[in-house]
Amino acid sequence: MKIICIGRNYAEHAKELKNPIPKEPLFFCKPDSAIIQKAKPFFYPEFSNDIHFECELIIRINKLGKHIEQKFAHNYFDEIALGLDLTARDLQQECKEKGHPWEKAKAFDGSAPMGNFISLSKNNFDIGNITFELKKNSETVQKGNTKDMLFSVPQIIEHISKFFTLKIGDLIFTGTPEGVGPIAIGDSFEGFIEGKSALKVPIR
Ligand code: ZN
Repeated sequence: MKIICIGRNYAEHAKELKNPIPKEPLFFCKPDSAIIQKAKPFFYPEFSNDIHFECELIIRINKLGKHIEQKFAHNYFDEIALGLDLTARDLQQECKEKGHPWEKAKAFDGSAPMGNFISLSKNNFDIGNITFELKKNSETVQKGNTKDMLFSVPQIIEHISKFFTLKIGDLIFTGTPEGVGPIAIGDSFEGFIEGKSALKVPIR
């Protein structure tokens, strides 16, 4: 399986990082070794001093597809989860300045903690209007709604599937709203989808 992450998909977040608004979805990948599940801790690695959290809604692909048109995209997923796209900002900055690939800043072990997947259809959720929230040490740091995405989930699927065959079990991180910030050893993160606890990440 593969993890595909969308960058700069919320205007306010692009602004806070002083990035331009993209004209088409930007994306990058993480390997499966980035996944942390079941509220297991993330261990702060020695190679960075500036790891940031980005809370993102994740969709899971449940049907094989290539060149998927927007209007058919809803047939290719039914489950969502909440996750963190952990980013080593110091390494990312260095990679950007040198024009290097940024995998080491974005795709390292444990850089994709995620909660349990829940069904859209069973919960009567509309992918175009889902609220989510992240609390750091019990204080809200990020709040998002999928309706504020610059590129909707169907648009993302159409775009990505021009380049990559989507397979059952592939995951798409759909971008982060504003409010990203640093993590520290001892922090605990909890995420919510539609007000219900959906993610727990202790930092050790
Ligand atoms: Zn992200």
